[in-house]
Amino acid sequence: MAKKQLGYVELEWICPSCGTRNAGRTRVCSNCGAAMPKEAKFHAPTSQELDTSAETEAIVAAGPDIVCPFCGTRNRATATECSQCGGDLTGGKPREAGEVVGALQTEPAPPIICPHCGASNPADRTKCAQCGGALGRGPQPSPEPEPAPRPESRAKPSLGLGCLLIALVVSLIIGAILFMSTVGSETIGTVQAVGWHYVIPIEQLQPVQYEGWHDEVPANAEVLRCVQRVRHRIDEPVAGAIEVCGTPYIVDTGTGQGQVVQDCMYEVSDDWCRFSVYEWRVSGMVAEATGSDMYPSWPTLSLAQGQRAGAANEEYLVLLLADDREVRYSPHSLEEYRRFTPGSAWVITTNRLGGVTSIAPR
Ligand SMILES: [Zn+2]
Ligand SMILES: [Zn+2]
Ligand SMILES: [Zn+2]
Repeated sequence: MAKKQLGYVELEWICPSCGTRNAGRTRVCSNCGAAMPKEAKFHAPTSQELDTSAETEAIVAAGPDIVCPFCGTRNRATATECSQCGGDLTGGKPREAGEVVGALQTEPAPPIICPHCGASNPADRTKCAQCGGALGRGPQPSPEPEPAPRPESRAKPSLGLGCLLIALVVSLIIGAILFMSTVGSETIGTVQAVGWHYVIPIEQLQPVQYEGWHDEVPANAEVLRCVQRVRHRIDEPVAGAIEVCGTPYIVDTGTGQGQVVQDCMYEVSDDWCRFSVYEWRVSGMVAEATGSDMYPSWPTLSLAQGQRAGAANEEYLVLLLADDREVRYSPHSLEEYRRFTPGSAWVITTNRLGGVTSIAPR
């Protein structure tokens, strides 16, 4: 994400000794004269006018203020001696910088009510126009509401016994099926009837619509329409890209000035197209033939322009009579089917579910 610099706003600090709001550039309290302590934080100002002057830029460029190692007073980064006590600043530490102090308020700040006399004062005033008392910070945006606490979940009745029972029943059923499908019995059966069914689905060349980026459209496709759509989001601006930026926010520079920045991305659009290609699709029409003889034959196909035969399907069925019981068997190929001449006798092994597990000529 690219950081875009918009300008500066002068921050504020509140004197811990007397509660007076002071402009960022002042290093000692305008009311009581106490030096701004190292621990006192800068706040976003109530009234926020964007400053883009070269002068402010130079102040920020010099770096964070230096804290005097002897008296704690803030001094310009360029100073060598403390403005308050005259001490040598070589061993002084720079103020911390880089913290985000808030979003840039573009709407006019509400007036501040004097805590001493109740008079209404413009947001940028630090002292009451009526009584001269120190004005605190105006109403601050309320912090995010805490999510509602979730009700304690009640202890659920134990599922252990129920699960155990279900597992037991399931394993019993599986066991029974396995037993019934493996253990079988042998009988002799005679072929009573045979039958076959041949189906050929008819496929048709049909236009099918797809969507994709213009450079992904197949060469044989017909492009129906294209719209511009965001394809990439990148960090750095390029020709033709659309800049999308977040809310401007203020960063403490340690100088009393806040740097107003905005995080931006660049959206690159491209042609997103709907196109049509011809593809073979099942038409719903079929050619089929059915018989109850030993000589199956495929249906004759009459294909129109743009039609073709799909994957053909063959089905065979043999009906046998074994111990006055009807047994159905489906041969897997024409070759196998041809062996089941009506009246022929077969040794059939069936499982307890009635399924044929093996079949062989007697
Ligand atoms: Zn003060
Ligand atoms: Zn000093
Ligand atoms: Zn007042």
